[in-house]
Amino acid sequence: MPPVHHDDNGSVYVQVEPLKALVAETFSRSGCSAAEASRIATRLSGANLRGHDSHGVIRVPRYANWLNDGVQVADVTVDIKLDNEMLAVIDGKFGFGQTVGEQAIDIGIGKAAEHGIAITALQNAGHLGRIGDWAERAAAQGLVSIHMVNVRGSLIVAPFGGIDRRMSTSPFCAGIPMNNGEDPIILDMATSVVAEGKALVALKGGKALPEDAIITETGEITGDPQPLYGEVRQGEFPDPSKGPGALRAFGNHKGSGLNFLMEMMAGALTGSGCAGALNEPKRRFCNGMFSIYLSPEAFGHSDDSFVSEVRSYVAFLKSSRPTEAGGEVLIPGEKEKQTMAERLVTGLPLAPEAWSDIVDTARNANMSQAEIEATLGSKP
Ligand code: NAD
Repeated sequence: MPPVHHDDNGSVYVQVEPLKALVAETFSRSGCSAAEASRIATRLSGANLRGHDSHGVIRVPRYANWLNDGVQVADVTVDIKLDNEMLAVIDGKFGFGQTVGEQAIDIGIGKAAEHGIAITALQNAGHLGRIGDWAERAAAQGLVSIHMVNVRGSLIVAPFGGIDRRMSTSPFCAGIPMNNGEDPIILDMATSVVAEGKALVALKGGKALPEDAIITETGEITGDPQPLYGEVRQGEFPDPSKGPGALRAFGNHKGSGLNFLMEMMAGALTGSGCAGALNEPKRRFCNGMFSIYLSPEAFGHSDDSFVSEVRSYVAFLKSSRPTEAGGEVLIPGEKEKQTMAERLVTGLPLAPEAWSDIVDTARNANMSQAEIEATLGSKP
């Protein structure tokens, strides 16, 4: 496949390596170190590879604006505010999530490796992207992990029974390590019907939203993303804080309750702060992340006993008869693996408008047309 190709329906497919090179060069010319720029490019394109386009390279223009406006800060080293054998409270100081998230996770991994169990409470992190990345990083060290995340300053979800925005999309994620080179099992989901970026993808002409994803300002339920953003003027990047409508919490009262728990753990307990408050409806944007790391050995497992029970349950679960002829019961993370295998071959599908926004961001970072083409190995 060529590095960039356009299909008959106008969709653009970009191979992951040239795309990573373009995104890395964009951020390194925008004030990030080469190492941070490469982390951002790897994490964002990794989300696209796994089918989470909402947390992929579509975010490049927004990240570049945030860096420009000081919403996120380049090359931050976290501060450890409180530290004991089991717990670290960590200040991300509004650094890029791809950097401070990695530092926080490595602190948790280090503690769990020594003591079997650990907790990290990360406050004031820049956007942490696809949270599955962090569970995968812990699983690579043989650790079970649970991550509860909120988004302070991002009021875009209405609680069950309400119309007005009071919540963030607050993802919940957990990872189960396997062995013998098998991929870990990763559950990774927003507690809204969809992550905000999926509404952005739909607005930009990508995959449509489920019919129950959005509530309008008058309380109607719809799959149209427009009420989340309001009118977007020519040349403006859609801002989900501007619209009169809201995303809906998934699973009615149960999902809304789980979203509330994310605010308690990732917002209130970490000290990062909840999505909003009556006397302070607009807070500075950041992610909070409460993470638990558990070594199966600390639970008395030796060698294969934990993983073999996991493997046996997975086989039992998947033996359920599929609801659709030719269908298959998937375990968490399996869909992402399937998508990754496909996209490594086809390249990453991007809506044309999303792709031109990414190329424009590279231009704004002073890349000439010739440099863009040389980096991609193709015309954009
Ligand atoms: P989603 O609706 O696709 O749900 C993903 C989860 O469902 C995964 O665990 C996946 O393996 C599982 N899944 C998908 N299809 C399945 C099937 N057919 N059978 C069984 N399981 C299946 O994703 P989402 O909720 O829109 O979240 C997307 C991403 O957004 C996640 O990576 C999340 O971490 C991220 N996110 C990040 C933030 C942030 O502030 N950093 C906020 C919200 C969401």
